[in-house]
Amino acid sequence: MAASNGAPLVVFDFDKTIVDCDSDNWVVDALGATRRFDHLLRHLPWNHAIDAMVGELHAEGRTAEDIRACLRAAPLSPHVAAAVKAARALGCELRVLSDANAFFIDTVLAHHGLSACFSATDTNPAHIDAAGRLTIRPYHDFGSGGAGHGCALPTCPPNMCKGKVLERILLQEQEAAAAAGSSRLRRAVVYVGDGRGDYCPSLKLREGDYVMPRAGYPVCDLIAAAPPAAAVRAWADFEDLARVLLGIVNDEIARAAVTEHAVVVPADCCRTMPLPVHQEALLPQQAAVRVPN
Ligand SMILES: [Mg+2]
Repeated sequence: MAASNGAPLVVFDFDKTIVDCDSDNWVVDALGATRRFDHLLRHLPWNHAIDAMVGELHAEGRTAEDIRACLRAAPLSPHVAAAVKAARALGCELRVLSDANAFFIDTVLAHHGLSACFSATDTNPAHIDAAGRLTIRPYHDFGSGGAGHGCALPTCPPNMCKGKVLERILLQEQEAAAAAGSSRLRRAVVYVGDGRGDYCPSLKLREGDYVMPRAGYPVCDLIAAAPPAAAVRAWADFEDLARVLLGIVNDEIARAAVTEHAVVVPADCCRTMPLPVHQEALLPQQAAVRVPN
């Protein structure tokens, strides 16, 4: 639902954006399986390789709790935790859009007390079966029997097109704004990410939205080569992420307040700035025109 105060919807990537690591590599390295994972990657797509890897670890007696213990030790900056909580407190809806998996993300967010800050997570599904084996599935089924996501961008892995997912989220935003009779089409959307897979969703944003690429990471080069319609606000480190994100949130809330307080003025009036609401009654009530913000 659209926030009443103009706070934007913020969509976060997870790996190297919320946590300062790739969570798949973090778990594999922590459990001493780096070389075997590299070997699997020679034959399998990434998403299938990490599922096969956790299957091998289970067969060797590693438990889901062992994996959880690794994930609790994954680096997550206090600046990120503070930014997430502050953005939520300011009225933002927050979502995760990640090519990691539901088990890893849920474990990390719960450990840092952040689960309740997020309204939804779109990622590769994961579950623990009756034997205690963690299973990780692709978000979009592909290969034998699966149609795949159909996106032609080479930066999208076969198991997940984040652009397709964001398109669905943006459609829901548009429908919610229309149902609420919002004068704006919808609230602004902020997308925060670092990787090649974050480029496609950046292209789905429009003018008035924001993309926040991690400086020096692959999505930055892609955006520099072919910029999206959204405003680009890069961040250099996690303290910077917090500063840039909360700056956008406060700007959007202030913009919504100005829009709300903008008043009608006569068509022949030379005023160019909105007036405070309490001055509206002083103005003649004919031939009105909306003052642009
Ligand atoms: Mg990432």
